[in-house]
Amino acid sequence: MTTAHWLFGDQLGPHFLAPAAEGPGRDAPVVIIEARSVFRRRRFHRAKAHLVLSAMRHRAAELGDRVRYVRSETYREGLREAVGDAPVTVHHPTSHAALRLVRSLEQVTVLPPRGFLVPLTEFHAWAEERGTRRLRQEDFYRWVRREHDLLMDGDDPAGGHWNLDHDNREPPPARVDTLGAPAPYRPREDAIDEEVRHDLDRWEREGVARFVGRDGHRRFPASRREALAALRRFTEHRLAGFGPHEDAMLAADPVMSHSLLSSSLNLGLLHPLECVERAEDAWRSDKAPLNSVEGFVRQIAGWREYVWQLYWHFGDDYRDSNALGHHAPLPDWFLELDADAVTARCLATALAQVRDTGWTHHIPRLMLLGSYALQHGWDPRAVTDWFHRCFVDGYDWVMLPNVVGMSQYADGGRMTTKPYTSGGSYVNRMSDLCAGCAYRPTERSGDRACPYTTGYWAFLHRHRERLAGNHRTAQAVRGLDRLADLDELLCRARDLGDAPP
Ligand code: FAD
Repeated sequence: MTTAHWLFGDQLGPHFLAPAAEGPGRDAPVVIIEARSVFRRRRFHRAKAHLVLSAMRHRAAELGDRVRYVRSETYREGLREAVGDAPVTVHHPTSHAALRLVRSLEQVTVLPPRGFLVPLTEFHAWAEERGTRRLRQEDFYRWVRREHDLLMDGDDPAGGHWNLDHDNREPPPARVDTLGAPAPYRPREDAIDEEVRHDLDRWEREGVARFVGRDGHRRFPASRREALAALRRFTEHRLAGFGPHEDAMLAADPVMSHSLLSSSLNLGLLHPLECVERAEDAWRSDKAPLNSVEGFVRQIAGWREYVWQLYWHFGDDYRDSNALGHHAPLPDWFLELDADAVTARCLATALAQVRDTGWTHHIPRLMLLGSYALQHGWDPRAVTDWFHRCFVDGYDWVMLPNVVGMSQYADGGRMTTKPYTSGGSYVNRMSDLCAGCAYRPTERSGDRACPYTTGYWAFLHRHRERLAGNHRTAQAVRGLDRLADLDELLCRARDLGDAPP
């Protein structure tokens, strides 16, 4: 009999079953395990729990008689119920914990990972070759573009430049509430979603699991068919406008021209190669300008791939990094996504987006939510856990580098050259969120001082010594000496404390 193949809940696309030398056998029976312990352990966003369960059950429905779908307390129990002690194969899972588990099970053969562009061994060789030099995302990205012949004209980057970021950092257009991009794809719920909603309601009633955030109509694809429709909608109608305002924020237009494809990629419903190839096709057939297409390819072939590689490269104890010695617990209003308690319009808006949808784009994540946590010295491990639980696209591999490294600078600069945080003037320049806010981005002390402006200077002051020695932050630190109201500002920062700003 053919060896059964086990699919984790983030291995749901056809490429995880495609037969190959190191893949499952053609027509191998499939096992999918819905382990309740995952939901008992963490208080996930309701929309995320719904999406993951819906996607797993949609995959099971597609596979029909080929799949044994087991609902159990743990993965171990589920596997036993599905195949007893018969051998199974599984593709390399996406977290250290899951890899430890499958390696500890004698009956399981672990096959190489799928769903990424660069094999782990090739990245390892690339990193080794660089010796003691810092690993730079830009170098990695260019290497991936060459290796995969992405957006290349022979040996040169298409259009003559590798990096078109200078065209992609514009503030939002003046005097508009929305970018006016065509609407993103919205899935329709079906009977599987109804069953999932019913189960989650029951789990909550019976105390099996507790959730955070609001339930609502499912917004993200749960099947390959839906994910392909979302990709098509994006590349045909929205990609052209992706680039210029990639970093901008508009209160009434949370999605702008972003793709909303992260959850589909991370569930394994889409392969990154098909996403970047379709984007390149759009450019080659004059349907989207190069800056937008390069920006999108950079996000997927550059950032996403790099983050995946760094997760394994840095190892499991990376999660315990805490170079800045931040230990404050997250306050309840943040944990509960209580946006209504927050006065600062930018933070209230981002927190409400998370509460209502489990998603915001990268700038609210980095420069509003993450930046606030960093300025207030919240424990990076708890911040990582919060992001992981509250975002529909959050998984261990993608959270650790993005939150521990990029957002909280807890690794002391292994991933980025400086901490990402700013005062209110950045938010004011890149969004319409300061208009109508009770605070003033230019004021750093006093009752109307913007909490981000106060927090920024207080953060620089707290880590003055370390940041003075970093050429990218030294000048900002020198600015502290010119502040006549530093004492008043630090008082204001203390007064803000844990309360919602
Ligand atoms: P787009 O803006 O349309 O970008 C296209 C794609 O690029 C995304 O779908 C995503 O797959 C990929 N991408 C871009 N940047 C990154 C990155 N830094 N890491 C990984 N993929 C990237 N992304 C996640 O997928 N899961 C997360 O849990 C996650 N947490 C984040 C936490 C913080 C603090 C920050 C700063 C970023 C995080 N990101 C995460 C990256 C990024 O914010 C999201 O991928 C993006 O906002 C998802 O929306 P989108 O699909 O519309 O992305």
